[in-house]
Amino acid sequence: MDGATTMTSPAVLILLGPPGAGKGTQARMLEDKFGLVQLSTGDLLRAAVAAGTEAGKRAKAVMEAGDLVSDDIVIAILRDRLTEADCAKGVILDGFPRTTVQAEALDTLLEESGQKINAAISLDVEDAAMVTRISGRFTCGNCGEGYHDTFKAPAKDGVCDKCGGTEMKRRADDNAETVASRLEAYHAQTAPLIAYYDGKGVLQRVDAMGDIDAIASALGEIVAKAQ
Ligand code: AMP
Repeated sequence: MDGATTMTSPAVLILLGPPGAGKGTQARMLEDKFGLVQLSTGDLLRAAVAAGTEAGKRAKAVMEAGDLVSDDIVIAILRDRLTEADCAKGVILDGFPRTTVQAEALDTLLEESGQKINAAISLDVEDAAMVTRISGRFTCGNCGEGYHDTFKAPAKDGVCDKCGGTEMKRRADDNAETVASRLEAYHAQTAPLIAYYDGKGVLQRVDAMGDIDAIASALGEIVAKAQ
């Protein structure tokens, strides 16, 4: 083929925001709506810890303390995942990048594959609400659907609305002390990326203090335009 059809490169969307802002929930909704693939470095790291890989062993204690795992580990994990075939559908990066070094590494990776960032969307929330949000959340151990004791309880207690699974999981790092460190890491190391992406002309901001469906619809509009 010599360019008779113009290939549009797969969309690359970034969700920025502190822990508890709803990145995972919203990424899953965008995945369903737009057929994109959610790439959560938190999920990839938790899988590495569970599998006992070398990277997982190095990351475990850091994650339990609510600090950021080193850039080299996270970048390597993300780089590997991006080469998998399903990423050709387009990706939503959830929890990556979290430092300027990671953002620059992502720029290089995308440049190498001829891709660009369609939008970096900041989910804007107030810190005070985050502890409540995080301490009440849990997920279905079977399909990964996210729930919350107050804001999104399953219709039937203990049963996943989506797949009927009955094994609900709470994250080890979703406790008050760790949340404080995670928020601190966000402000010190990740929040500067808002200006980074603004400077590149791809930043969008969404007020993420409202209800899940209203935020999803604001995000949906941005993604529909950005693709
Ligand atoms: P998350 O599931 O996104 O809340 O991430 C859980 C934990 O994994 C974080 O508190 C960090 O310890 C680690 N983590 C996830 N993504 C990154 C990243 N991009 N850079 C450094 N650490 C990360």
